[in-house]
Amino acid sequence: MDFLPHVAGQASDLNEKKYEQMKKILVTGGAGFLGSHLCEALLNQGHEVVCLDNYFTGQKKNVVHLLANPYFELVRHDVTMPFFIEVDEIYNLACPASPIHYQFNPIKTVKTSVMGAVNMLGLAKRIRAKILQASTSEVYGDPQVHPQKEDYWGHVNPIGIRACYDEGKRCAETLFVNYHRQNQVRIKIARIFNTYGPRMHPSDGRVVSNFIVQALQNRDITVYGDGLQTRSFCYVADLVKALILLMETDDLFTGPVNLGNPSEFTILDLAKMIIQLTGSASRIVFQPLPSDDPLQRKPDISLAREILGWEPQIPPEQGLPETIHYFRSIIMEA
Ligand code: NAD
Ligand code: UDP
Repeated sequence: MDFLPHVAGQASDLNEKKYEQMKKILVTGGAGFLGSHLCEALLNQGHEVVCLDNYFTGQKKNVVHLLANPYFELVRHDVTMPFFIEVDEIYNLACPASPIHYQFNPIKTVKTSVMGAVNMLGLAKRIRAKILQASTSEVYGDPQVHPQKEDYWGHVNPIGIRACYDEGKRCAETLFVNYHRQNQVRIKIARIFNTYGPRMHPSDGRVVSNFIVQALQNRDITVYGDGLQTRSFCYVADLVKALILLMETDDLFTGPVNLGNPSEFTILDLAKMIIQLTGSASRIVFQPLPSDDPLQRKPDISLAREILGWEPQIPPEQGLPETIHYFRSIIMEA
């Protein structure tokens, strides 16, 4: 990595230019799956990054390779408590994303989304930083409109087991738009659809990591329900690019904007694809479908194409082998 000098006056022309463009950026949830890739990408662009995490589902291991970079800082902090720092931009990613983890302590999940948003928006207001919220396709609930566009209001059970996450994220969006309307905070809302890749936690419980780990260990692949429910999976590198492009849009553009890969397939097909790619001897077994599990999900990404000039470049046939390679290496280490 090309480290920038501390003293601008001693810098080369090239580095002086970079120094002027260098931003100080806070990434909450930065030690998690998406957050760690985002921190890495921002450092690679020459920015200074502060990664804040309480390590609930994230791990220091995800960012340990960044610690040697003097422009990277790691802070243990819980976003439900106020935090003060001077930065130019905030990416608010702190929140468990896997159903088993966000349902483990649902009250805490709501607090993380809602109080986390209040604390980070209050900070953004005070220091005049731009702030991006990692929202989710879960704001559409079990959607009755397919594919989902940003103007769809969703179909969410407010008292179901997924509500702590879905409603928490919906309330966070409400807070974001109101800080924008009332206090002119510069906001960006990304509605992220299922994303996968290296650094997902092996016991994270989400479908891609579960199936790959099961396949690599030749254990039964646990398909919930009949496996005919659909999802559309985006590779992490594509998603991180989109988040950064979104942060860079004109202040007038706030989103929400769908970010994901529209290539949709059934969970059963995903299981078969992973068995084939790993050469596994695993069998597929069917287990009960958790309640309120959405039957179908696919982003309409016309808005992202238009505003960000972005669309995913990495199809599952390319992203899944990368992810399998990662899980194979950590299983061998264990
Ligand atoms: P993750 O669980 O790997 O990362 C979340 C990070 O937030 C972890 O490092 C965790 O320790 C941290 N965190 C949780 N509660 C916190 C708190 N109270 N204070 C500080 N840190 C806290 O999940 P991810 O997949 O990287 O998701 C990151 C963000 O993106 C989440 O907000 C999630 O809702 C959103 N998102 C992700 C996906 C996806 O498919 N990966 C889809 C939609 C939305
Ligand atoms: N799923 C499954 N087996 C698993 C884990 C998940 O069949 O071991 C299903 C789950 O019921 C859902 C889909 O895969 O229909 C995606 O689940 P995930 O938890 O990854 O994300 P989300 O439901 O939040 O989209």
